[in-house]
Amino acid sequence: MSSPDLHIQAEDLLRAQLAEWPMAGSNYAALDGVRVREIDIDGIIMKVQFNPARIVSSGAKVDAASLKARPCFLCGSNRPAQQRGLPWGDYTVLINPFPIFPRHFTIPLNAHTEQRIAGRIGHMMSMAIALDGYTVFYNGPRCGASAPDHMHFQAGNTDFLTLPQAVGQSRLSESVCVGSARLSTVAGMPMGVLVIDAETAADGESLFAALYDSLPQPSDGEEPMMNLLCYACGSGVRLIVIPRLRHRPSCYGSDGTDTMLISPASVDLGGVFITPLEKDFDALTADRIKEILAEVCMTPGQVSAVADAVRNKIER
Ligand SMILES: [Zn+2]
Repeated sequence: MSSPDLHIQAEDLLRAQLAEWPMAGSNYAALDGVRVREIDIDGIIMKVQFNPARIVSSGAKVDAASLKARPCFLCGSNRPAQQRGLPWGDYTVLINPFPIFPRHFTIPLNAHTEQRIAGRIGHMMSMAIALDGYTVFYNGPRCGASAPDHMHFQAGNTDFLTLPQAVGQSRLSESVCVGSARLSTVAGMPMGVLVIDAETAADGESLFAALYDSLPQPSDGEEPMMNLLCYACGSGVRLIVIPRLRHRPSCYGSDGTDTMLISPASVDLGGVFITPLEKDFDALTADRIKEILAEVCMTPGQVSAVADAVRNKIER
């Protein structure tokens, strides 16, 4: 599946689609005008983006009945006529017509099958290596995926996020190694963050499998809740794992004075909180973000316990 210049082909696709698909062209042009501000969370800089077009995602109904009632927008047969794709192994690189990033791709599996990461972390790592300069991210089916019925990754230009740089500047405490892959916890983060650094996708895959088995397993057989961000780093690849405790914060909603239409997923946790409503953009503070993170993510202490469990599993 290797195509080392995938990022170049993807950028060519983006340029062509912006010229030939007016809706996508105007949504990307509108990004130039979105309001953005920075919030300092105890030394970690996060951005807030007021992006009204993202109401389609933040407000998405992802219950089984709503999913069944709509044609799947990631299936080839239902895509808009103007949308073209770039084949990559069993996946197709598409431009995201409702962008957050200046360069934003959606990368569905070619088959209509549920959003599940088990057995696919190697694909994600290989994709991140091929998409140099981009962060490939994964939202679990109950952690922000707006199409939990169709397996997909997304990718956006890494320099837009703040978490990769913050992790790069933080102290990593190594917990355990498998081959070239190392699992670490990260000091100083506002939520619990784990990092897998690997020289090869195969090594990263076996360490991730041990981590997956060490996360809290939902009683209904769903996969452990998580958001993942992956990018080329040094001579290998870095995977940021953000385990989740809850899908949406208790303040989630759009109909009250104390509610906010914020549904955190990989991009928000990667350092860019998206607010489709201007009142939320204006109201969001560092304390409010910390409250939201405390509700939906693990604490640094909880991820340290997970890292200990992974070490025990591997060294046993
Ligand atoms: Zn589908």
